[in-house]
Amino acid sequence: MTTSRIVGFYNLPLGQRLKKLAEASGLTTEEIIAFQVSGLTMAQADHMVENAIGTFALPLGIGLNFIVNGRELLIPMAIEEPSVIAGASFMAKLVRAGGGFNTTTTEPEMIGQMQVLDIQDLFSASVKLLEQKPQLLAEANTIDPVLMKSGGGARDLEIRIIEDSPIGPFLVVHLIYDVRDAMGANAVNTACEKLAPRVEQITGGRVHLRILSNLADRRLAKAQCTVPLNELGFTDADGRVFTGGQVRDGIIEAWALAAVDPYRAATHNKGIMNGVDAVIIATGNDWRAIEAGAHAYAASDGRYTSLSIWGKDKNGNLTGEVEMPMAVGIIGGATKVNPTAIAALKLLGVKTASELAGIIVSVGLAQNLAALRALATEGIQRGHMSLHARQVAITAGATGVLIEKVAAQMIAEKTVRIDRAEEILKSFQ
Ligand code: NAD
Repeated sequence: MTTSRIVGFYNLPLGQRLKKLAEASGLTTEEIIAFQVSGLTMAQADHMVENAIGTFALPLGIGLNFIVNGRELLIPMAIEEPSVIAGASFMAKLVRAGGGFNTTTTEPEMIGQMQVLDIQDLFSASVKLLEQKPQLLAEANTIDPVLMKSGGGARDLEIRIIEDSPIGPFLVVHLIYDVRDAMGANAVNTACEKLAPRVEQITGGRVHLRILSNLADRRLAKAQCTVPLNELGFTDADGRVFTGGQVRDGIIEAWALAAVDPYRAATHNKGIMNGVDAVIIATGNDWRAIEAGAHAYAASDGRYTSLSIWGKDKNGNLTGEVEMPMAVGIIGGATKVNPTAIAALKLLGVKTASELAGIIVSVGLAQNLAALRALATEGIQRGHMSLHARQVAITAGATGVLIEKVAAQMIAEKTVRIDRAEEILKSFQ
């Protein structure tokens, strides 16, 4: 891809937008069609879940202007909420003026948990397990030859003694398992189930739960960005002028509330997840797993806090970073079943799950910046309302050209409400 900066993309009629996308990405007509029709056939859906009766569609849009680790990227985003794709694209444009997003990821190591009950002496059981660690890891490495061939496998075994619980003390064994390009839940769960009888033999206890942890805090992805100060200033629709310094400081002040207050942090992190989930869903990944991991990680110091940090560099430019667990795959799960997800992954051109993880947290950081910038200046509602107004107009019964007309009048009146939409609609009929 030469550039992710496609001027006027949002203004193009749908057909031309797809043509532009095909030109910019090199995707085939078939792949582009997978974006258009809900790619998943009924037969495929029937193979995926129980009691299937249909498929459920979401809008799919393209996040523009992204540069991640020097690479131009068009980002597929599946989301029903207005403003997210526009907000992320706009912030990616500001960030690209500072060189784009830079990302780092840890090894794709997941944690599998085995809960070991009915042990008399927890300490000596722990010692025995640690003595047998090389044998246990070797045994774990016989379970998934495909994963081993891909460079993954068991990396470590950690023993935790839980002293106090509602049922008294017990042991928890953590299997650290490198799952390479898979999300890894099935791989980890299988490994834990296969290893459990050996753990019982060694400890004399009873292995109860055998399941991965979604607090994937050994599989982290971090994105960083710098927004040049001169990109931040603007004049809003009411003619109010915001200088770059005011916007930067306003963003840092807004972040400070999220850093100390869980009531704000929950909403702040929800904004990050607006961007993260949109790419997770578009690429066929498990967004519940990512949500669970993100919020547990945000509370891992004992107090729920912001997943991102905003500040300024020595030149006064705005700096931001976000870090969170990112258990995503480019093989396995639905990623290779849903044709839309396949096309989305092709559009991103990622070769590893770690690369995908870095892109996803970059979109999360862009989305976080969009929300903070709006909140710190003109407020969140103005940008939100223009698309929201269309949805309200449709809910009120508007169709065809009336959707735009009703929405435009509500925006002009600064009253976007269903009762007003109904009145305006009546006046046009
Ligand atoms: P999977 O089992 O479909 O695919 C993983 C397998 O692909 C590996 O075990 C390996 O054998 C093979 N493979 C081939 N090439 C590989 C490569 N380059 N890197 C890694 N593996 C390679 O899927 P999974 O990723 O183990 O599990 C993901 C699914 O599990 C998702 O659908 C998720 O929703 C579901 N799940 C999640 C949870 C949870 O999050 N708590 C629990 C259960 C199931």
